[in-house]
Amino acid sequence: MDAIDVILTKRDGGRLSDEQIDWFIRSYTDGTVGDEQAAALLMAILFRGLDGDELARWTQQMIATGIRADLSGIGKPTVDKHSTGGVGDKLSLIVCPLVAACGAAVPQAAGRGLGHTGGTLDKMEAIPGWRSTLSAAEAETVLRNSGAVINAAGPDLAPADRKLYALRDITGTVESIPLIASSIMSKKIAEGTGALVLDVKVGSGAFMKDPDRARELAETMVALGAAHDVRTVALLTQMDVPLGRTAGNALEVEEAVAVLAGGGPADVVALSLDLAREMLALVGLDGTDPADLLTDGRAMDAWQAMVRAQGGDPTAPLPRATEVEVVPAPTTGTLSRLDAMGVGVAAWRLGAGRAHKDDAVSTTAGVVWHATVGDHVETGQPLLELHLDDPARLPHALEALDGAIEVSATPVPPPPLVLGRVT
Ligand code: URA
Repeated sequence: MDAIDVILTKRDGGRLSDEQIDWFIRSYTDGTVGDEQAAALLMAILFRGLDGDELARWTQQMIATGIRADLSGIGKPTVDKHSTGGVGDKLSLIVCPLVAACGAAVPQAAGRGLGHTGGTLDKMEAIPGWRSTLSAAEAETVLRNSGAVINAAGPDLAPADRKLYALRDITGTVESIPLIASSIMSKKIAEGTGALVLDVKVGSGAFMKDPDRARELAETMVALGAAHDVRTVALLTQMDVPLGRTAGNALEVEEAVAVLAGGGPADVVALSLDLAREMLALVGLDGTDPADLLTDGRAMDAWQAMVRAQGGDPTAPLPRATEVEVVPAPTTGTLSRLDAMGVGVAAWRLGAGRAHKDDAVSTTAGVVWHATVGDHVETGQPLLELHLDDPARLPHALEALDGAIEVSATPVPPPPLVLGRVT
């Protein structure tokens, strides 16, 4: 087998054979094929695509570079959720313990944020003592005892994806539906979950700005799940407006805890319940209404058990930024625009996110908004709070908010949360 033949096949619009796919993925992962040739193939795939059979094989080989966890001994149905990434999206923190409290086991292998979107691990690490580097055996023990575990995707989980994703990131080949779908699904299938709910975000603050491409991504991932015996459903959800009232690590933990205590912003509560209901239906546990568990304390108990099992102290005060800059509402009326991308980039520039994979993030930096689209605001009322520890970051963060806020003289309805469902 020769790497150049594989590249030329795809460059010229041909189909890759199973043997070509198996050889290429294995050889790139073990270093026999270098970055230059892998980058050329990725670019050819970005332009030419992969058909359903090629993609199923490609994903299967990515999984086969590591191990697929066997969670059949847990004694409960397993189900996970995955979001393609948004601004203010702290839903995993709520949904994982909530679904665990309803009787399923949630084995979440989670990631870190990159760019303007946050990552679940960065948020959880704002909790004093909480640890995301459990061994596979430790993670299984936490799952068995607490019903949910949120752990960093380890080196055995589709190792091909670590190399391929890092290469895509620097070669302009991230935005390919088959490459995104195989990257996400190889990790989710390898973590061992039996069922999966995907939250595919659509809008200015999402990876996919275009609803048709988001639907195509959702359909592609649902088909890959089915091909690997993972029952998979996707919701397409809006990300033109950020979720909830906070973006930033400790700030989002605080908001998630408010929801687990029976309060919190209505959009976060509603979407958490939609996702939890989809997850429970996939594993036949839909006799329980998760809304009841948010108000009777059982979801909070599950959260505290999960946090403690990973070394965290759920009762410890969360860290707070040293400075808060308030941005007032420019005029009186209905907030008609609060751009998710603007808010996400502002939070990122304040320190909540990272520009490079290994950068540290601030636990305290971020943005709080006191109103969302559809709410009435009065001139001069505090609209945004920018939380930061490093004052030098403020001007650049404020620039990200230029044009991100609009107030209308006429009423504007809040955007719908769920735009579609793919099964
Ligand atoms: N998240 C992933 O894990 N992979 C992608 O390709 C895009 C988002």
